[in-house]
Amino acid sequence: MEFETRAIHAGQEPDPLTGSVNVPIYQTSTYAQDGVLKMRGGHDYARTINPTRTALEECLASLEGGKHGVCFSSGMGATTAIMELFSPGSRTVAINDVYGGTYRLFSKLYATKGYDYEFVDLTDEGTARQAFERPADLVWLETPSNPLLKIVDIAAIAERAHAAGAVVVVDNTFASPYLQQPLALGADIVVHSTTKYIGGHSDAVGGAAITNDDETAERLHFVQNSMGAVPGPLDAFLTLRGAKTLAVRMERHCDNAAGIARWLTESPAVSHVYYPGLAAHPGHETAKRQMKRFGGMIAFQVNGGRPAVDAALADTGVWTLGESLGGVESLIEHPGAMTHASLAGSGFEVPDDLIRLSVGIEHVDDLMHDLVAMLARATQSRSRPIQ
Ligand SMILES: *Cc1c(COP(=O)(O)O)cnc(C)c1O
Repeated sequence: MEFETRAIHAGQEPDPLTGSVNVPIYQTSTYAQDGVLKMRGGHDYARTINPTRTALEECLASLEGGKHGVCFSSGMGATTAIMELFSPGSRTVAINDVYGGTYRLFSKLYATKGYDYEFVDLTDEGTARQAFERPADLVWLETPSNPLLKIVDIAAIAERAHAAGAVVVVDNTFASPYLQQPLALGADIVVHSTTKYIGGHSDAVGGAAITNDDETAERLHFVQNSMGAVPGPLDAFLTLRGAKTLAVRMERHCDNAAGIARWLTESPAVSHVYYPGLAAHPGHETAKRQMKRFGGMIAFQVNGGRPAVDAALADTGVWTLGESLGGVESLIEHPGAMTHASLAGSGFEVPDDLIRLSVGIEHVDDLMHDLVAMLARATQSRSRPIQ
């Protein structure tokens, strides 16, 4: 079956009791047993197993072309569960342009417990070669990365990483499984913040890890049950409902973002546009190879520095000024002060004149109209005399 069909049907048989076409929200904490340890379908306690969650796990596994899906209460919950597969003394090589929350978890929590992290630019051939001269236990990739939309060649890095003995994890949140399926490119585990494109409606926080390896899946389920960062049944239901329309939403996200990115490159208010769909993007060829399309995320730098950013973002019109991404509504933000503030002092700081867009699925003319106004204000802020 094709992706669009699996999104709607994988793990989602009509309810056996009533025929309900949607998997019910099994809002329960426990299950009646027919005798001591005579459980119905293995259901004993809802931290351990919940049918709404199971449906979501099966659907997400299918969308990533994986055998097993394990869901968590947030993307960071999923990331934490994966780190729990490793021990103090383990060496992780992570892309330096990593999600701020992942950087915080690694550098401020696990690093203090004796886990070793190196944040390196894995888009650079020489740097990547050097990083894998020593054995490694884990390689953490994000592509496209956040917020600079760098593209890592997953297959090439996975080959190097495996030769160094490492497990390869790809955070596929920005691309979504519709645009990119890292397991087929050699990754061992895919991680998602389902809060973003998969849920797609900015109404539920969640995370998932997907793998083809039976033993890894068993260990992840053990961590899920032991640590307990599980999604509630309502959140699992909302995420599953969002996943059904992932393909059609992603197509519109990509259409709108492609148009806006091209237009931004021509604006005199803009000094640089980061979008992998642009031929001038250094990762364009790799993105073309490993992604179906180029996604809905754009970053750009404005002329005039932080004052121009503040002037632009003083009134954002139909764009919502806010963190997060991947929902139907368009979001705009300043990574330096907002999503990526936790990178301060890391040696990897995002430019202060950078604006990030999560392009939604509204009509592109409305989105353009308000961007024009924002950039006009950014330009005016530059020509205002200094007082
Ligand atoms: C949001 C995000 C996360 C963290 O997910 P939460 O659901 O917020 O915990 C991880 N990686 C990326 C790329 C993200 O955008």
